[in-house]
Amino acid sequence: MARTTGPKCRLCRREGVKLYLKGARCESEKCAMNKRPYAPGQHGNARKGRVSGYALQFREKQQAKRIYGILEKQFKMYVDRALKAKGVTGEVLMQELESRLDNMIYKGGFATSRGQARQLIRSGFFELNSSVARTPSIQVKAGDVIKPVNFERIHLRQGFVLPEWIKANVKDKLIQVDRLPSLQEVSDSVNVQLIVEFYSR
Ligand code: SF4
Repeated sequence: MARTTGPKCRLCRREGVKLYLKGARCESEKCAMNKRPYAPGQHGNARKGRVSGYALQFREKQQAKRIYGILEKQFKMYVDRALKAKGVTGEVLMQELESRLDNMIYKGGFATSRGQARQLIRSGFFELNSSVARTPSIQVKAGDVIKPVNFERIHLRQGFVLPEWIKANVKDKLIQVDRLPSLQEVSDSVNVQLIVEFYSR
């Protein structure tokens, strides 16, 4: 399956924000955004000036793709589905992105990053509704149950906060999707309105 490769810290530096792509390193002093908080490349530190509306929309779209680890073709598919769906387009788009299995496993504290969640899923570390799931992009629905196949090999991420729309059963070592999130609950990382505007041009 196609995926984003290459140095991850360059992606954060290009977007000018921490995208949290490398687990514990992102919280440490070693984070590249602490050392070099400017765009990569020879003239990265010198790039300034007015930013057009189009550039703002484009960068927001790139940022969302990089946060969720999705390539352009698949991201466009999510946007097309959201544009056709009933409801608020931005909210539907964010719900589609947030209900990916890799995101659920990251948000549930089972992985240090969405990238690690994808690796664990492909290696068969998780069950979705009692069947081993090996596709990170599976859309999880309300009521679905996610459970590690072998909990001893999975360590909960330190300091993670479980979102209100995901329920955890510590005794049985599983998480359950209670409901899909509202836009307010998931809009802190990206400005989804700019993304919808980009694809509605
Ligand atoms: Fe981004 Fe994490 Fe690299 Fe920092 S350490 S630049 S947050 S990927």
